[in-house]
Amino acid sequence: MAITVVGSIAFDTVATPLGRRERMVGGAATHFALAASFFDEVRVVGPVGDDFDADARAVLETRRTNTDDVEHVAGGKSFFWAGEYGWDLNSRVTHDTQLGVFETFRPKLSAASRQADVLFLANIQPGLQRDVLEQCEQPRFVALDSMNLWIDIARADLVDVIGRVDCLILNDAELRQLTGKPSLLAAAREALSWGPSAIVAKQGEYGAALLTAGGFFALPAYPLETVVDPTGAGDTFAGGFVGYLSRHLDQLGDEATLRRAMAYGTALASFNVEEFGTDRVVRLEAGELHERIDGLQQMTHLEPTREQEFQT
Ligand code: AMP
Repeated sequence: MAITVVGSIAFDTVATPLGRRERMVGGAATHFALAASFFDEVRVVGPVGDDFDADARAVLETRRTNTDDVEHVAGGKSFFWAGEYGWDLNSRVTHDTQLGVFETFRPKLSAASRQADVLFLANIQPGLQRDVLEQCEQPRFVALDSMNLWIDIARADLVDVIGRVDCLILNDAELRQLTGKPSLLAAAREALSWGPSAIVAKQGEYGAALLTAGGFFALPAYPLETVVDPTGAGDTFAGGFVGYLSRHLDQLGDEATLRRAMAYGTALASFNVEEFGTDRVVRLEAGELHERIDGLQQMTHLEPTREQEFQT
């Protein structure tokens, strides 16, 4: 089994109330791979420029992530993003987005990447997501993430590719923007009608909700005293969620399996935000992850309530 992911491989300059870092290794595919590589072999598809040196590649290759389909474009510059957060870490301002080598990138997947059972179309131009999807032979599970930029400038392409995937993972505000529906349930129902069988609405520090034709489930974010840098939390969540499902492909129709996948996504994302960029997840150990899964299970457990507790 393997998971193929296409998405940005980037350098990020990030400012938060707790500090500022220049040109950290980042990108949606990078954060996804760092999380999903706990569960399965991950194969990253995407271009990088001359600036993507051996140290940067080593970050991407954490836990043996395969970079055979990471194309070095000679003379090119890697994707660059700069953003800033205030005290409300749920909202950020983008100062700069430079597509660099992604602007002219035409993916050509190796045979091994085309044969992956699981495909994650991380946040990048919807046209590129479709291109990769069309090259994959018979994926058993395909999930997709996107963002407001692509809803603004490439909505028709985005809706088209959403219609071909099993699961849509999006911020709740973006889900509302995409569907034009003000409530989360109505927005999810609209998106489900386009084709996917599951929608995950990410809600930043408030957690994430799972919506399917027959069910609703929500988990809070794992509570933390200090959040240093939320960048990549969504992609890290997706890596945990999709990574867990890749080990349970025979139980995809089972709501309990999807719920457990939500717990892995939530726990992994909580580590990502504790330090800048990829620093924390690069050195994360499986035992630490399981402790947070147990913690989530305890803190969300609800005893049955009793009718006689109401006055008559
Ligand atoms: P997240 O915080 O999970 O939404 O993802 C943040 C990551 O997305 C950063 O590492 C950025 O490099 C990357 N990113 C930001 N803007 C874009 C964009 N327009 N397309 C693709 N990736 C992006």
